Amino acid sequence: MQDMPARDAAAASERGCQPGTPWQTWSSPSGRPRTDMERLLDDTVLGQPHPDLGACWLFTGPADPYGRIDRASERYAHRLGWKLLRGPIPDDMELHHRCGVHTCWNPDHLVVVTHAENMAFAARTHCKNGHPLSGANLRIDPQTGTRACRACGAEHQRAFRERQAAKRMSRLTE
Ligand SMILES: [Zn+2]
Ligand SMILES: [Zn+2]
Repeated sequence: MQDMPARDAAAASERGCQPGTPWQTWSSPSGRPRTDMERLLDDTVLGQPHPDLGACWLFTGPADPYGRIDRASERYAHRLGWKLLRGPIPDDMELHHRCGVHTCWNPDHLVVVTHAENMAFAARTHCKNGHPLSGANLRIDPQTGTRACRACGAEHQRAFRERQAAKRMSRLTE
């Protein structure tokens, strides 16, 4: 590979390609370099629909655990997608995955939070009874966005109905 002048190399890396990278890897069929959005979409599949949130947009490229996208204006797929679809992320704010799926970049599944809030969310991966706060067991309150355990919610409802039934029985037998 012959050396590229620094200026050409900088222009090439701006276009999303590196010296020595086969052109077609980084370009659309027309020969135009793929945009960041095209690169994201090319590496994305739809996940299982979540009952409250809908389907995750799963980035299938490298992940650590967040989807990584090299040579784009943001190194993480979910941050890049947010910037492209929703706009800039304020300095020292972070994106929290409401769906709990780190490779997902569906902006409806993300919310802008402070680092402290994000840490508090991250610490709560399971409910107090050990059920995972992710996947289909994760319930998102549509009003408040609060994360809750579906299994425990169902159990509370069952216990509540049992108590109501017991009350009705005791009134009948009084
Ligand atoms: Zn998701
Ligand atoms: Zn639970």
